[in-house]
Amino acid sequence: MTSLTEAAQNGAAASPAEPVVRAEHVWKLHKLGDEVVKALVDATLTVQPGEFACLMGPSGSGKSTLLNIIGGLDRPTKGTVFIDGRDTAALSESQFAALRHDTVGFIFQSYNLIPFLSAVENVELPLMFEPVDRTALRRRAMDLLELVGMSHRASHQPAKLSGGEQQRTAIARSLIGQPRLVLADEPTANLDQRTGAVVVRLLRDLCSRMGVTVVASTHDPLVAEEASRVLRMQDGRIVSTTGQPHPPEA
Ligand code: ADP
Ligand code: MG
Repeated sequence: MTSLTEAAQNGAAASPAEPVVRAEHVWKLHKLGDEVVKALVDATLTVQPGEFACLMGPSGSGKSTLLNIIGGLDRPTKGTVFIDGRDTAALSESQFAALRHDTVGFIFQSYNLIPFLSAVENVELPLMFEPVDRTALRRRAMDLLELVGMSHRASHQPAKLSGGEQQRTAIARSLIGQPRLVLADEPTANLDQRTGAVVVRLLRDLCSRMGVTVVASTHDPLVAEEASRVLRMQDGRIVSTTGQPHPPEA
């Protein structure tokens, strides 16, 4: 089992030259009766450590599909995905679950906080059923709440928090396992523009401070403005990349 310290060491152990995400010619097809829906078409991307990459595109363009495949919540129909240098096609479901557990944090549009747990318990949740030291876990959860400006709301349940506060709590939760990669699917879609901008800036700053790599999806240009790289998606394809030059493809 992974302790907090071991998780940190895992994070530090990977080679700095290794991209955190390398996806090559990834397709996702869904059969719907006689029809085939092309959710993802020949997507190739590389995300380097410390990047804040943003998938930008209209509803239905394949953003969630790509994020879910990167995070191992879904498998591609075709193509390869390397996470931290590991070929995910070679992993069993349980090996992928272990990689996800040690490496990836998730943030969702609808926050996905557990309603009957307090904010600090929600932050602890990913590690709550593991043999980690309770006192150290609570301290770390409180530290993360402090970082996102939520320590004064630690004992509140989600229903008592605003949308922005719930998403800040969810950001703290995504970081509890000291992930190398945070995947955020439309993290500001349920927030007003100003709160959304605050949340995204917070996510970006935290991640740059903690050396975490972020891939976020959005159709909000304000979110994209905070990103170091914007990958535009349309009809399942990555149609353009702006920001840092796209690293050479193998
Ligand atoms: P986005 O997140 O950009 O809104 P999605 O990745 O959710 O887009 O979806 C991309 C396309 O794939 C859409 O046309 C969607 O309807 C389709 N799609 C996604 N999941 C499924 C599924 N399980 N079965 C059939 N079609 C799907
Ligand atoms: Mg989506």
